Amino acid sequence: MTIAAKPAMRTGSLSQSGRIIKAECLLVAVPFQSDAKPVWSFTSAPKNTFDTLFVRLETDTGLVGWGEAFSRTEDRSLKSLVETRILPLVTGEEARHIGKIKHKLEYGLQNFGRVGPTMYAISAVDIALWDIAGKAAGAPLVDLLGGPFANEVEVYASLLRYDSEDGVAAAVTRAIAEGYRYIKLHEIRYPEIAAACTAAAGKASVMLDVNCPWSVSEALAMDARLSELNLLWLEEPVWPPDDFRGLARVRAEKRHRIAAGENAGSLQDFVAMADAGAIDIAQPDVAKTGGITELMKIAAFCEASAIEFVPHCALFGPGQIATVHLNAAQRTVPLLERLYCHFEAEIYNGATLPVNGRLAVPTGPGLGIEPDQAVIECYRIA
Ligand SMILES: [Mg+2]
Repeated sequence: MTIAAKPAMRTGSLSQSGRIIKAECLLVAVPFQSDAKPVWSFTSAPKNTFDTLFVRLETDTGLVGWGEAFSRTEDRSLKSLVETRILPLVTGEEARHIGKIKHKLEYGLQNFGRVGPTMYAISAVDIALWDIAGKAAGAPLVDLLGGPFANEVEVYASLLRYDSEDGVAAAVTRAIAEGYRYIKLHEIRYPEIAAACTAAAGKASVMLDVNCPWSVSEALAMDARLSELNLLWLEEPVWPPDDFRGLARVRAEKRHRIAAGENAGSLQDFVAMADAGAIDIAQPDVAKTGGITELMKIAAFCEASAIEFVPHCALFGPGQIATVHLNAAQRTVPLLERLYCHFEAEIYNGATLPVNGRLAVPTGPGLGIEPDQAVIECYRIA
């Protein structure tokens, strides 16, 4: 009779991911201090709060994964969509089947939009599943993405819109004093843009994001006028965001490197942009564009297409942390975007705040940092 040794308790195995037994959605809105306004609003008066729309998945092995859907202006309708249309399709699935779950959601919901809220919700589920996978494996997310090229990432201060020369120049000066070496503006008028560039001269590189305000002819005129300012890139100069021919027309002038992609829904949109010759820099958003799974595909496509991969990240929850891991897993270690404003409370107790313009890649399992339950409960609105 052979007596087999009792197998040692395994720690760190994807097989421990388990089956999803609970899926929920939490909408948190935290007030921030700034003398500027967000450029996104669904109402006539922008709120001085930013949303974090959490998706929380729990498995029968006791693991919890956190994801985030892009959300603005206390978006209860998006929360309802997540709860009624997405989460019922996730419950009962094996958490390690990330690609299969993502495909099931995308295929089943294709008629409800390949860009926009449905994809935001799918993105949140994907991020939460990767968090669970990392926790099951006992490894930080970056290790599951091929391992880190850096232990910290450089952060750029993404300023809100000041609409004032003095206001934006003062913000640039403050950001530089805090250690930022890269600053992105959201101004759309020449005097403010020029004032900011003067304030940054010799101390920080400046990018300009105008959020799709112009016709192609207007964009061409501004492209020419801005060319003396030595901007690192010009982001979304043309309305509408999916006018890839229009972007290509501006890019053809070779005055600026053209960045876009935060309004894309999937890899296919980036293929279309590349086919049109529209972009130098691709900016998918992990909480909008299909999550970590899709961004890894887009990164590979960019590498093969002479396009720089620099994810968009106007997020403060699990999406921001996922972007840190994604950026650290790229050989180019792209700059990390962080909106420049100061919150009444920090969801991660300050662990996601840049220091001297840099942010460390978390080393704990999964996303590597857990949200503060007390902050969530205090600022949860739905
Ligand atoms: Mg932008």
